[in-house]
Amino acid sequence: MSSSTEVNTFANDELTVGKWFGNVWTAIRTVIKGMMITFKYVYGVKPVTIEYPEVREELPKNSRSRLFNDVENCISCYQCATACPVDCIYITAVKRDKDAPALKTKSGTPIKLDLLQYTIDTALCCYCGLCTTVCPTECLTHTTDYEFAQYTLDEMKYDYLAEDVKAWRERIVK
Ligand code: SF4
Ligand code: SF4
Repeated sequence: MSSSTEVNTFANDELTVGKWFGNVWTAIRTVIKGMMITFKYVYGVKPVTIEYPEVREELPKNSRSRLFNDVENCISCYQCATACPVDCIYITAVKRDKDAPALKTKSGTPIKLDLLQYTIDTALCCYCGLCTTVCPTECLTHTTDYEFAQYTLDEMKYDYLAEDVKAWRERIVK
């Protein structure tokens, strides 16, 4: 009984001309279907990745990225350092000599202290934006620059009076 069932099954699987064409059509149809999905993603869908660094993404203007202090307009008021929740702003300033020529910021605020050091340890910074919010002369700003990876933590400490830091200005401050 069982051997006759096996024989019948084998007979049903026999390849006929009709089945052969059916298989060929199924193969063509599934390849076309697959290629349509491929072409849709190659030509029809906007890519979600960019070819960095050849292509760079522009962050929104209000991004809180790399900090920049335009030290010529800093009045050494310490408000940024006081507001900073992680104490990563280090300022040293001394009273200006009374005979020294009067200095003002671009908005006309008198500069009564000489700024000797303005450093931010950006490895500690949490980019909360409090320091820029309280800055009365708006010389301390977040930029949209996000390309400032360094090899060591020490290199993440930016001395804003140093020439190399001032040199970013042209590139990142818009
Ligand atoms: S953005 Fe950074 S430096 Fe400014 S207050 Fe926040 S933690 Fe401090
Ligand atoms: S709050 Fe602004 S002006 Fe005052 S020390 Fe900080 S950066 Fe300078």
